[in-house]
Amino acid sequence: MNRSWRAALAIGAAAVTPALAPSLRVVAPALAGVGDPRHVALTFDDGPHPASTPAFLDALGRLRVRATFFLLGEQAAAYPELARRIVDDGHEVALHGHSHRLLPTRSPSATRDDLRRGFVSVGDATGIAARWYRPPYGVLTAAARTAATRLGMRCVLWTDWGRDWTTRATPRTVCDTVTRRLSGGATILLHDSDTQSAPGSWRATLDALVPLVTTCHQRGWTVGPLAEHQMR
Ligand SMILES: [Zn+2]
Repeated sequence: MNRSWRAALAIGAAAVTPALAPSLRVVAPALAGVGDPRHVALTFDDGPHPASTPAFLDALGRLRVRATFFLLGEQAAAYPELARRIVDDGHEVALHGHSHRLLPTRSPSATRDDLRRGFVSVGDATGIAARWYRPPYGVLTAAARTAATRLGMRCVLWTDWGRDWTTRATPRTVCDTVTRRLSGGATILLHDSDTQSAPGSWRATLDALVPLVTTCHQRGWTVGPLAEHQMR
């Protein structure tokens, strides 16, 4: 991959594949979610879902850690009480799209409609206007970027993930994968629901939370939502 192509990624003129996201930390730190080096942002995608999200809220409550939940509009509309509980528990809600489809397979107008529908669904369920948008699979298009901006949202991907969506994920692999190259200012991607991943994979994520948060605290970082990440 040459530098000019990387630069195109940074302005959203081309699709960003998840595998490339770590390099975004260097070429497009704002899009990657790089923030205050004393802070690590904890984010969850693909919820809410009644089978799993309440367990995450309970665990985060015990840890006294707040996070950002990138909701799917469809899920928020189906489970509005759960979406509201996320906010009532002190967490931040953001948008992961209305439905979970790869944006390059959609026309610009269908992309605009999806973001608008999702934004409204999350707003109706929670009373909150989402500030952040993360596209499904981390694949951003120019149309999505424009639509997000018009709705007042900023696009944020991630710097580190736990590969927590696979059948092979265990609490150990999730924690180790996240923390292997983790540094202050990171944005961590995890999933509080298996709506888009291997059935039950969220259990490994859930059990990774204590060692993951403990590791961050031991390294001197606070853990919280994007709202407290102080991104430029
Ligand atoms: Zn997703």
